[in-house]
Amino acid sequence: MRVFDKLPNGEDVYISTLSNDGFEVDVLSLGATINAIRVPSKKGSSVDVVLGYDTVNEYLNNTTYFGMTIGRFANRIDKAFFNLDGKKYQIDANENGNSLHSGKAGFCWKNWKIEEFEGKDFHSLKLTVTSPDGEDNWPGAVEVICYYTLKDKGQLEIRYEAKTDKRTYLNLTNHSYFNLTGNLSKKILSERLQLDSSSYLEVGDTLIPTGKIIDVDGTPFDFRNIHAINERIDDTENGYDHCFIFERVDESLKKRAEIIDDDSEIKMEVLTTMPAIQIYTANFMENGHKGKGGVEYTKNGAICFETQYYPDSPNHEEFPSCIIEPGRTYEYKTVYKFSSK
Ligand code: BGC
Repeated sequence: MRVFDKLPNGEDVYISTLSNDGFEVDVLSLGATINAIRVPSKKGSSVDVVLGYDTVNEYLNNTTYFGMTIGRFANRIDKAFFNLDGKKYQIDANENGNSLHSGKAGFCWKNWKIEEFEGKDFHSLKLTVTSPDGEDNWPGAVEVICYYTLKDKGQLEIRYEAKTDKRTYLNLTNHSYFNLTGNLSKKILSERLQLDSSSYLEVGDTLIPTGKIIDVDGTPFDFRNIHAINERIDDTENGYDHCFIFERVDESLKKRAEIIDDDSEIKMEVLTTMPAIQIYTANFMENGHKGKGGVEYTKNGAICFETQYYPDSPNHEEFPSCIIEPGRTYEYKTVYKFSSK
């Protein structure tokens, strides 16, 4: 572990590198952020497959959320408002009058406590964050532990453990921007995507779910069989930025998505216990957006696989509930599994 940079108040932000089997993952204490994932490539050298920044200042002054851990609530809450057990809660409205990724009190802006662990065939990190009862009006003091473990054969496991002292909503995700091309300034549009989902949530103008669940059959959202992203992206409104719903959801880890870059021959599989995934093809990213090493990123230069509960679920009784209760420890798991030929 070493110092990555400092927060404006002088506090150190740490970086730690997990390594196993030729794969490496850099994680920051700020936001429990994945800063880099290096995958051995067919050319012999390693390639970084996620977007990120070199400084704390860039992380704090952008709303890309590159690689960050999002909480208490991933994605949007309509009018930044919800009810729980008869009480009304108004939280920070940081986007078009709605809440996106929990606004100013988001876990991504916090400097998590970071600890390293070595094992026989793995290397893991434990990051802990707490949010006090009433922070930005949220009910319940919540503690979240995020374990990153780099297992054999390029499997990056993310395990969240969460506890609360009052009933509250919790919807965690990781916001990594993946680009398997081997060149982070390139678009990912020719990559091929497969999703284990036969329906998705319709959204309105400000990307808030309307409540309608749409069958993917015959739409550009049908990735049950593998399709190149560019095959039908122009038939969507502004690219993919949608919540895809999984079936057969239980506590077990299931493979739900796969993406392949035919040139680099790098493939990633996504396994999760979560009920849905937000697929976001970096539609709002501006061309020339500077990232690590001064590399210029581009619109559609990455794809996010944000495993989570449904956006705005506190305002939709019919959506799976993400309420957590005192006296229990909640556990969620997602694995990003890389391979290259
Ligand atoms: C959302 C996008 C948003 C992005 C912010 C994604 O999770 O779905 O609409 O622009 O996060 O970087």
